[in-house]
Amino acid sequence: MTIFSKIIAGEIPSYKCAEDDRFYAFLDINPITKGHTLVVPKHEVDYFFDLSDEEMAAMMAFTKRVAAAIREAFPCRKVGMTVLGLEVNHAHIHLAPLQNEGDMDFWKEKKHFTPEEMADTAARILKAFR
Ligand code: 5GP
Repeated sequence: MTIFSKIIAGEIPSYKCAEDDRFYAFLDINPITKGHTLVVPKHEVDYFFDLSDEEMAAMMAFTKRVAAAIREAFPCRKVGMTVLGLEVNHAHIHLAPLQNEGDMDFWKEKKHFTPEEMADTAARILKAFR
């Protein structure tokens, strides 16, 4: 069971941003920006590009709604999207509100927010999710 499956099952806490029957979105624990969100399918597939065409299309449609919610909650120029997957072997998409290209830099020092700030960030995205 991957760490993300444990999060989806509620065995490990997370700051939930959005959910439907197939996908789950929650804040990255080491955010590159405020509002940095991960979108994952509820069933385990390691490599993003091993998802079926149908599942990838459905995941993108869900991700589009999460990105709209992030942008509404945290006004930004655009929401950026990245696929890495080198650390956690459970396919996922990173979304982050962008003011400039450097906001998507995964090598820079991560941001630190209090649990209250993380909870507020997730609540704002969840409230804007349609
Ligand atoms: P990647 O696999 O895309 O290279 O990186 C995995 C991402 O998942 C990292 O940005 C990391 O901070 C995040 N991450 C790893 N473990 C956890 C966790 O237990 N909870 C949350 N919310 N994020 C995690």
